[in-house]
Amino acid sequence: MEEVFSMKNIIIIGGGAAGMSAASRIRKLLPDSSIKVFEESSYVSYAPCGVPYYVEDTVKDINQLVTYTPEFFTRERNIDVHIRTRVTSVDAGASEVSFVSEAGEGSAKYDYLVLSTGAVPFVPVKKWLDSDNVYTVRHLEDGNRIKANLSRASRVAVVGGGYIGVEMAEALSRQGKLVTVLEMKRIMPNLDQEISSTISSYMKAKGITVKEGFEVKSVENLPNAVMISDGRTTERFDAVVLALGVRPNIELARQMGLRIGETGAVWVDEHLMTSNKEAFAAGDSVEVKDVVLGKKRYVPLAPEANKEGYVAGSNLSGMSMVFPGSAGAAITKFYDMEIGSVGINEEEAKANGIDYYAVKIKHNARASYFPPSESIEMKVIFDKKRKVPLGAQLVGSEIFGRLSTLSLAVSYGIDAEKLFFSGIPYAPPFAPVWDSVIVASRIFNEHVL
Ligand SMILES: Cc1cc2nc3c(=O)[nH]c(=O)nc-3n(C[C@H](O)[C@H](O)[C@H](O)COP(=O)(O)OP(=O)(O)OC[C@H]3O[C@@H](n4cnc5c(N)ncnc54)[C@H](O)[C@@H]3O)c2cc1C
Repeated sequence: MEEVFSMKNIIIIGGGAAGMSAASRIRKLLPDSSIKVFEESSYVSYAPCGVPYYVEDTVKDINQLVTYTPEFFTRERNIDVHIRTRVTSVDAGASEVSFVSEAGEGSAKYDYLVLSTGAVPFVPVKKWLDSDNVYTVRHLEDGNRIKANLSRASRVAVVGGGYIGVEMAEALSRQGKLVTVLEMKRIMPNLDQEISSTISSYMKAKGITVKEGFEVKSVENLPNAVMISDGRTTERFDAVVLALGVRPNIELARQMGLRIGETGAVWVDEHLMTSNKEAFAAGDSVEVKDVVLGKKRYVPLAPEANKEGYVAGSNLSGMSMVFPGSAGAAITKFYDMEIGSVGINEEEAKANGIDYYAVKIKHNARASYFPPSESIEMKVIFDKKRKVPLGAQLVGSEIFGRLSTLSLAVSYGIDAEKLFFSGIPYAPPFAPVWDSVIVASRIFNEHVL
């Protein structure tokens, strides 16, 4: 890492979570360096995660989703931010990027590069987007577009029942739209069938039409409608949100000749250096180590992106910091139902030939006598040999603390006995005295005795 330390000019491509986290870290560690950030949208340091809550109107002003403005970075951190500037190519041999902005084309030399280009929404057929009534959700501008056009739509389809699809379904339903979710597999397909069923039943109870096993084959754009077909039935909607998952944005990485990993994302080592030692990469464009299975995994989540940016920035500045990997802890909600998971599910345990035991419980969220009476449905996959949790899925109320505890146990291999004896606090408004995490550990311990 020492040779990295003497660099002067740093270019960061992409001003999202990973890019701005790296930029701030480098500025702190290398006060004399020149740092340029190129960002194609109008915002840096913004929270795409807040877009569904802006569409549903919980967040009133899109600017609330911007943590720091470009002016803040320039003024307070001496970081030269270029918004509405798209990097069109990187000449790795000449250490030079070419870009295009409203002012025209340009180029800039670098000593070191951070590639933090994020992810792009997956759209199987580009033509599906040829309509003012079809949307994807990525940038804040997408939130603006959806909200501005909402008044002309009453029947809206959300294609894809992953967490962005579920969040958008709630947002649109709260806006009074008749929402249909079309999902080729099942709602929240990363969760096991029975947990997914709990969620889809609740969505239906809240007035959403949920069509699972519906694989969209065509999207036909008419002047005031969108026709969606799975090859058997065709449905008509006023507007459609495509939430079919994301893919790493690796266009520039490919063009630079960087190694692409087994998941299709940019390969990086544990210091987040790419296969080119002048280039680090972080965020939704890279793959990292799956701490449960030990192989590479694509984890496009905000906490990972921020920390990867921090680690990449630290190492580019001469430190030697390891990014240990991720267990993919994620949480969302649909109306009052909180949904979370970490690690692997039962399907993955089976597919990887793991000798596992699945504990399933439904347990009170608080002391049974303490209102409101709410519960948690929890499924924990334990490794029978190592006696550690490999994954957990939770739906219900007050899951954040439980998920965080299980996430720690999954990430660091804390076994079921330690989990059972761990100091999970108790008072009636917060938890039953036998909390769900303790009960799940106890059931497993008794099973393997
Ligand atoms: C609707 C939605 C909700 C989400 N909710 C959650 C959540 O609740 N929890 C969670 O953990 N994660 C959530 N995420 C994911 C989270 O937002 C991402 O993991 C995180 O933003 C990744 O940060 P990043 O910096 O890697 O990528 P991004 O934030 O996407 O930033 C990459 C940036 O690079 C720019 N860029 C790309 N190519 C170029 C180029 N050639 N030139 C210039 N600029 C370029 C892009 O414009 C973009 O701004 C959500 C995402 C979405 C879309």
